[in-house]
Amino acid sequence: MKTIADPIEAKKMIISSGENQKEIENHRNSKTMKALVYHGPGKKAWEDKPRPVIKEPTDAIVKILKTTICGTDLHIMKGDVPAVTDGRIIGHEGVGIIEDIGNAVTNFKKGDHVLISCITSCGKCEYCKKAMYSHCEKGGWILGNLIDGCQAEYVRIPFADNSLYPIPADADEEALVMLSDILPTGFECGVLNGQVKPGDTIAIVGAGPIGLAVLLTSQFYTPAKIIVIDQDENRLNVAKTFGATHIINSGKENAVEKVMSITNGKGVETAIEAVGIAATFELCEEIIGAGGHIANIGVHGKSVTLHMETLWSKNITITTRLVDTVTTPMLYKNVQSGKLDPKKLITHRFKLDQIVEAYEAFGNAAKEKALKVILTNKE
Ligand SMILES: [Zn+2]
Ligand SMILES: [Zn+2]
Repeated sequence: MKTIADPIEAKKMIISSGENQKEIENHRNSKTMKALVYHGPGKKAWEDKPRPVIKEPTDAIVKILKTTICGTDLHIMKGDVPAVTDGRIIGHEGVGIIEDIGNAVTNFKKGDHVLISCITSCGKCEYCKKAMYSHCEKGGWILGNLIDGCQAEYVRIPFADNSLYPIPADADEEALVMLSDILPTGFECGVLNGQVKPGDTIAIVGAGPIGLAVLLTSQFYTPAKIIVIDQDENRLNVAKTFGATHIINSGKENAVEKVMSITNGKGVETAIEAVGIAATFELCEEIIGAGGHIANIGVHGKSVTLHMETLWSKNITITTRLVDTVTTPMLYKNVQSGKLDPKKLITHRFKLDQIVEAYEAFGNAAKEKALKVILTNKE
């Protein structure tokens, strides 16, 4: 029988009560965290929020190490994504360390370093079985949209086994943040759907981070000519250093005429739309050659005109896609081996608690010459 009189037991009790004390203290400290919270169009704040906790046994709680801001977040801030409601923590990209883990998660344990996918997927539903994670019946793009996201000190990731990727503790975290969204998005929605082939002439309309991710990953397939079209001179110059063979400033030149002169009047084999407005999609319709592919990536808020009067006989294919992130492991290997250098996309670095400032820089991308910004959480 154990009594308090037993000196060993008494010591154990003291230790355990000391541990309890520490635990209680930790718990008290850990109830809140700082996060970037959306409060309706044009309104956001870096403020206290309850720290996320495990809700389902398949969840993981990840302490954010590095995160970033996506063009989609700017759309959210403008009120273009009505699904995002007042009080939501936004952000869907990042790397971190597992802080807490549900008891049904088998691939990860506490302390593991992970890459967060912008797409959450259960791995079990009809769409997941078809590798169409973007349409997972219980997931898809929910992070920083329908559930709280990554622009915070901590984030809850549902279906952790399928929605996180293991990374080494000494990985180049900044480079890997580019794998959460922009690299798989550019590659899957643009390069794969656009069926880029060796020797092709392709056009990328829009030289923002996504367009540049297309530019980097299209080179896996060695297209002969890569034409990048934008109105931002700085981004076009960056595109040139990333492998564009031709750049066109559509604000100063007639883009259609220029593309036709580059292609001997034939048009391009693949036209990739990486902006999300009617004018850029319609430009793709004008420059696409017979048998070509128009691959849309942009998030469209308004309808666009489909010019069937010119396209009906051209044997073209138009594709749309929400990134499935099925190519993330492949892209990761290419980053690790140095074949792909996504760090080139990073122009600005901030501490996580300077995120409002970071939004300013990212929101004034042309003036600030901003591409991707990296936000680093304190250790
Ligand atoms: Zn994004
Ligand atoms: Zn699913």
